[in-house]
Amino acid sequence: MKPFWELKTLIEMTREEWESLCDGCGQCCLHKIQDEDTDEIYITRVACKLLDLKTCRCKRYVERTKFVPDCLELHDISFSQYDWLPKTCAYRLLHEGKSLPVWHPLLSTQENSVKKAGITISGYAISEIEIKDMDDLEDYVLELQS
Ligand code: SF4
Ligand code: SF4
Repeated sequence: MKPFWELKTLIEMTREEWESLCDGCGQCCLHKIQDEDTDEIYITRVACKLLDLKTCRCKRYVERTKFVPDCLELHDISFSQYDWLPKTCAYRLLHEGKSLPVWHPLLSTQENSVKKAGITISGYAISEIEIKDMDDLEDYVLELQS
């Protein structure tokens, strides 16, 4: 029998199934910059202040919007905003009709497969707490969002 992510659309999934798709890479918690003229999105290596850089998990997930009001609830955003997600993110992949990668925990059944595949932000991200001025984000751009 096919797994749930091949049988159901994102909308049809239960909340538990939905949550299990997150691989915990932490990439969506990196600050992005949008070019006002071209609308292009650039990814920086600066992570939200609430992200634990070792575990790649939010330190205050349940109450996070009290501290970071603009943190998006992925479950509730429109699909048109998915181009802000990294191309490795399961939600974006499934929305685009693609398969989950072999390193995804639902396929590998190993928690550390995401890190082993070099997908997590551990190792290169820094916290925004370390940045003196958030207006300097441009200095930390990694790449153009694709
Ligand atoms: S980018 Fe996607 S898979 Fe990675 S932590 Fe964010 S929601 Fe989860
Ligand atoms: S508040 Fe938590 S979930 Fe939201 S961007 Fe920051 S670390 Fe990520």
